[in-house]
Amino acid sequence: MNIGESVFLDCGNLTLIVTKGSYAESYAKENGLKYSYSALCAHNYKGEITIPPTCTATGEKIYTCTECGDSYKESIPAQGHTYQSKITKATTKKNGKRSEICIKCRNIKSTATIYAAKTVKLSQTSYTYNGKVQKPSISIKDSKGEALKNKIDYTVSYAKGRKNVGIYTVEINFKGNYQGAVKKIFTIAPKSTSITKLTPKKKGFTIKWNKQDKQTTGYEVAYSTSKKFKENATRTVIVNKNKTVSKSIGKLKAKKNYYVRIRTYKNVKTGGKTKKIYSGWSKVKHVITKK
Ligand SMILES: [Zn+2]
Ligand SMILES: [Zn+2]
Repeated sequence: MNIGESVFLDCGNLTLIVTKGSYAESYAKENGLKYSYSALCAHNYKGEITIPPTCTATGEKIYTCTECGDSYKESIPAQGHTYQSKITKATTKKNGKRSEICIKCRNIKSTATIYAAKTVKLSQTSYTYNGKVQKPSISIKDSKGEALKNKIDYTVSYAKGRKNVGIYTVEINFKGNYQGAVKKIFTIAPKSTSITKLTPKKKGFTIKWNKQDKQTTGYEVAYSTSKKFKENATRTVIVNKNKTVSKSIGKLKAKKNYYVRIRTYKNVKTGGKTKKIYSGWSKVKHVITKK
C-alpha cells in the first residue's frame, strides 16, 4: 500500500483512522497528521497491577490493548483486614489476653484482658464423719471477682470414697481461656466423744469417756493446770485402742486443779505417711488431785 504525497494537504480537519503498527500510522506520524486508532480493533486487553491494594488502601490496575495500545485504569478496592483471634491463656497467677490480629498487616483490633483465676475455694474444707459421701462445691473467681464457669473454664474431679475419715483431694483442671491445674484438699474428721466421769486419786485422776469406735483409731486425753490449755502447762496422753474407755493418770501434783478434755483420732495414710486426724475437743471438766 502506498499513499501519494500531498494527498491530504487540503483536507484541513481530517483525522486518519489507523491500526497500530500500520503504514498509515507511520505515514500520519511522519507527516504530522492527526490520527487515531481504528475503532474496529477487537481489543485484547492485558491487565497489570501497578499499585497493589492493601487492607485499607485501594490499588490500581492498568489494562492495555496489545493490538492498538489503548488503555484504561481500574481501581482495586481495599481488601479489608482478615482478623484472627489470638488467646494468651490466663493462669491462677497471671492475666491472659484475647487479641484480634490481622493476619496480613498485623493490625490489632482489640485486646481484652482475661483476668487470672485468682481464688479457688471449696465450699467446705472440713467435715465430721457422718456415714455419708461428702462433696464440697467449687467456686473460682478471677482477680476482678467474676465467677468462672464449670465445664467451660474448668473441670473438677473428686477423689474416690469421701465417706470415711480421711484427707481427700479435689483436682481442678483449667480449660478454655485458662490453663493450669490446682489441687485442693478437704478433711473428714472422726466424731468427737465426751467425758463421762473424772475421779480424783492420789496425785492423779481417772478419766472415763463415751466409746466412739466408728472410724477412729483411739483417743487423746489432754490435762492442764491452765484453763486455756496453754502449751507449757499441758500434757497429752494417747490411748491407741478405740474400745478403751478409761485411763488412769498419775505422777501429778497433789491437791492441784487439773482441766481435762479428750478427743478422738484416726490414723490415716497420706502421701506414704501416717497422719492423725483428730475430732474436735470434748467439753472441759476439771478435777482436784488428792494428797
Ligand atoms: Zn485495541
Ligand atoms: Zn490488615
